[in-house]
Amino acid sequence: FNPPPAVNEPSLSYAPGTTERDALKAELARMKAEQVDIPMTIGGKKITTGDRVAIHPPHEIKHTLGHYHKGGSAHVQQAIDAALAAKPAWEALPWQERAAIFLKAADLISGPYRYKINAATMLGQSKTPHQSEIESVAELADFFRFNVQFMIEMYEDQPLTEPGSGIWNRVEYRPLEGFVFAITPFNFTAIAGNLPGAPALLGNTVVWKPAETQVYAAAVIMEILEEAGLPDGVINMILVDGPVAGDIIFEHQDFAGLHFTGSTKVFQHLWQTIGKNLPKYRTYPRIVGETGGKDFLIAHPSAPAAQVATALVRGAYEYQGQKCSAASRAYLPESLWPAIKTLLVEQVGSIKMGNVEDFSNFMGAVIDERAFDKISGYIAEAKKSTDAEVLIGGGYDKSEGYFIEPTVIVTTNPNYRTMEEEIFGPVLTIFVYQDDAFEATLDLIDRTSPYALTGAVFSCDRGAVDFATHKLRHSAGNFYINDKPTGAVVGQQPFGGARGSGTNDKAGSIINLYRWVSARSIKENF
Ligand code: NAP
Repeated sequence: FNPPPAVNEPSLSYAPGTTERDALKAELARMKAEQVDIPMTIGGKKITTGDRVAIHPPHEIKHTLGHYHKGGSAHVQQAIDAALAAKPAWEALPWQERAAIFLKAADLISGPYRYKINAATMLGQSKTPHQSEIESVAELADFFRFNVQFMIEMYEDQPLTEPGSGIWNRVEYRPLEGFVFAITPFNFTAIAGNLPGAPALLGNTVVWKPAETQVYAAAVIMEILEEAGLPDGVINMILVDGPVAGDIIFEHQDFAGLHFTGSTKVFQHLWQTIGKNLPKYRTYPRIVGETGGKDFLIAHPSAPAAQVATALVRGAYEYQGQKCSAASRAYLPESLWPAIKTLLVEQVGSIKMGNVEDFSNFMGAVIDERAFDKISGYIAEAKKSTDAEVLIGGGYDKSEGYFIEPTVIVTTNPNYRTMEEEIFGPVLTIFVYQDDAFEATLDLIDRTSPYALTGAVFSCDRGAVDFATHKLRHSAGNFYINDKPTGAVVGQQPFGGARGSGTNDKAGSIINLYRWVSARSIKENF
């Protein structure tokens, strides 16, 4: 068994007149009429509870897509038991068979399930067709295919054996002893699939808790994995409150690893809980977390204004700024500011926002009322501040859906709140620096980066590019030169950040896969 080298799944355009556009529209209509009833999946069984929670599209909150069944402590325990029961057989399966299941799942995603998973992400997450396609289809298929390739490379990473020594040295990449807990965020269907998927591929069994605002697409992932032949109990999807799950899982002796993506605050709390419970575990749990960001863009005076403006518009407002990598603070030189300002006012002012089922919209709604209140709170405060001015946008309305206009704030205070805190919405803050202060501004960025996820520099001057790349080497785990700071591609730009942004174990890379195995060295005389 030798799978062909992984290649990135191309995204469909959904341009007017294409058959794919008609197919996606038909799927959206079908799903909107369907009224799903989503159970938990534990040990392959579909568990309903009667505690039914309604699911609404964030852009059309009066419409109900269906319900999911919420569980409690007993279900968490059942999921752990199911994961542990499934472990021996799954671990013993030849890796080729595990790989075949995930490769089949990738083909289902890019084939017969393409429109379903795209439509589920559009409706549940308020993503435009393009934003949904690039991640729920292309990136998720990429994760599954590239993980197989990385797994093979890892297994092939073997120690030296001297020829003729009569000794055979080898390393066995065992899965962790126990079960893995995967907790996923609302903003990427691809992450929801990869966080349980990567440890499972390597022979681990998993208890998976999707975000409560992402259950709609998570259920489709579960369906795809089952159709691909994933045995019962390998991935158990529980729909419970985070603390309810945590209370049981983090007390369990067989808890062996946490694969988390979400906010810094929650991750820190989970790590502290794990630390407190350390004596209870049979093994030191692996802790992998990709967390928040406050991602920057700096333009050097040599940068082309039009490129910078386009990068800011796409980097800050695609998916309503709800990407951990979104450009949310920019440092622009005084000489370029008038040109960039004109372009921003023009381009941001012409962004179409609304129901994502209208394919001409560039932005949909933010995920829920809590996010809406938080983001609009920052905007309301900026409107009153003497340190900041709202250049364009600034409006919000939650009567039909959680809509927030793309907003540009300009501040004279580089430490203003919206320059330092993660907002996770369509709000970009700009600080204008004196042209001769490029170096001082790089220092300022580094000093004001408690997070270190993504960042970008724009310049036509090689010296300035090299200087910024070196100066900011700890300020971002993914650094972009003359490109927006979003849009990492699996296999091309391994993704993750350090400082408050996470353990930097690079999702969709061999680095991440090493965390889900516990190596055994074997020396054999023969
Ligand atoms: P979140 O509020 O931290 O939630 C993430 C997950 O943690 C959800 O499944 C949530 O469940 C769960 N959770 C919350 N409290 C918990 C607890 N006490 N015990 C166990 N689980 C708990 O984050 P989010 O709003 O979904 O996602 C946005 C955040 O994710 C941003 O900060 C963003 O930067 C970050 N992010 C980072 C990356 C990266 O690669 N660095 C990628 C994507 C997103 P409930 O939904 O049930 O509350």
